[in-house]
This record gives sequence, structure tokens and C-alpha cells, in this order.
Amino acid sequence: MSGTGWRVQVHTVKRIGIFGGSFDPVHAGHLLVAAAAREEAKLDRLIFMPARQSPFKSGQPLASDGLRLRMLRLALAGCEWASVSDLELRREGVSYTVDTLRILRRDLPDARWFFLIGEDHLARLPEWREADALGRLVEFLIIPRPGSPGDEPPAGFQWHWLTGWPLGVSSSQIRQRVREGRPVDHLVPPPVAEVIRYNRLYLA
Ligand code: ATP
Repeated sequence: MSGTGWRVQVHTVKRIGIFGGSFDPVHAGHLLVAAAAREEAKLDRLIFMPARQSPFKSGQPLASDGLRLRMLRLALAGCEWASVSDLELRREGVSYTVDTLRILRRDLPDARWFFLIGEDHLARLPEWREADALGRLVEFLIIPRPGSPGDEPPAGFQWHWLTGWPLGVSSSQIRQRVREGRPVDHLVPPPVAEVIRYNRLYLA
């Protein structure tokens, strides 16, 4: 689902999670975390929100916006509680979470909003654009990540730790494996592996 379509489908939803990231490509770690967040935070819906340009990553994602969207849609096909939004992809420039949340909350003011954040991003949360406002707009669901220091969340934010299921996989690892000609089976869903192969992604 994309564009404004999600509004129609979530009009009765009360607890909504946003999972932002580059998803270049989406992988098994993302999907396990999504399932854990849905269960542990009792989310009615989880919206995957691929960023056009992350404020904390230098350079553009390697795969095009369209292919990152396609991989996400294929990975989530048949999953009725998850959807994919192209809201940030349609906005020019850097994708700031606070802007996205303001738009979403305007459309669904009565929902309770959660934002998934990897433990690895926690320390820099106060540097996020309009961090004070952000802290009032959303509750953070912290994703445990193997190898992360287990920092306490910074003050001024509402947060809940998730427990399931830390998996030491990253998109950079997947891209590196593809570049080296190594298999990525089971690290990404089969249709995603197919998109990577067919479009010759991440070879250079
Ligand atoms: P890259 O390796 O390119 O930096 P990434 O694997 O971290 O990418 P992103 O799409 O940038 O993936 O991440 C989106 C969100 O998912 C971030 O909050 C990140 O911390 C989280 N995340 C990514 N991989 C995992 C994983 N294996 N387990 C838990 N959380 C993850």
C-alpha cells in the first residue's frame, strides 16, 4: 500500500507503529523486529516508512526509491497488520521523523503513535530535528541490537524496550555479501533476493 491509501485502511486503528529506515534492502532482522514490536507493543498496524535520505547516513541509498519500495512490498505481502508508505519518498530532501509524524498525527489525531528505533541510534536521539517536539509526539520502541552498548535512553523521551528478536544482520552486510558474490538466501525473503539478482543491485 502506498500514497494516501493507508489512511482508508487504518481509520479504526488505535496503536500505530512507524518503522523508519533506508531498507536498502529490507532483511530478516527488520522483519523479526516488526513481528516482535507488533506483539509486544500490541500494535494494530505497523507502517514501514522508507526514508528518501536519512539525516544520519552520508550519500543516497544504493537501490532506487522504487526498488526499495518494491522489495518492502514483496517482503510484507500477505501480512495484514503491516503496510508500506511512500510518504517520505515523495518529500524532497532529508527525511525528518518529526515532519512525518506531524503529517500522520494530523490525519489520525486519536491514535497512539510509536516509533521503532534501533538501539544503535539511541545515543543520537537528542540530535534529531526538533527532538523536544518529537518526544511529545511519539513513544519510542527500542529494538535491541547485538553488539550495541545497551545505553539508557536519553531523558525527555517516552520509550519501551522490545525483547524479540535480536539478529545480527544489517543491510550493509547484505550489500557486502552481494558484492562479494556470496549468497543472501534466508537473510532476505526469496522475492527480495530475486529483485536484487534481477536488477543487479549492490554489485558495484
Ligand atoms: P545499514 O546497514 O545500511 O546501515 P540497517 O540494516 O541498519 O542498514 P536500516 O534500514 O537503516 O537498516 O534500519 C532501519 C531500522 O532498523 C534502524 O532503526 C535499525 O537500527 C533497525 N535495524 C536494522 N537491522 C536490524 C537488526 N538486525 N535487528 C534489529 N534492528 C535492526
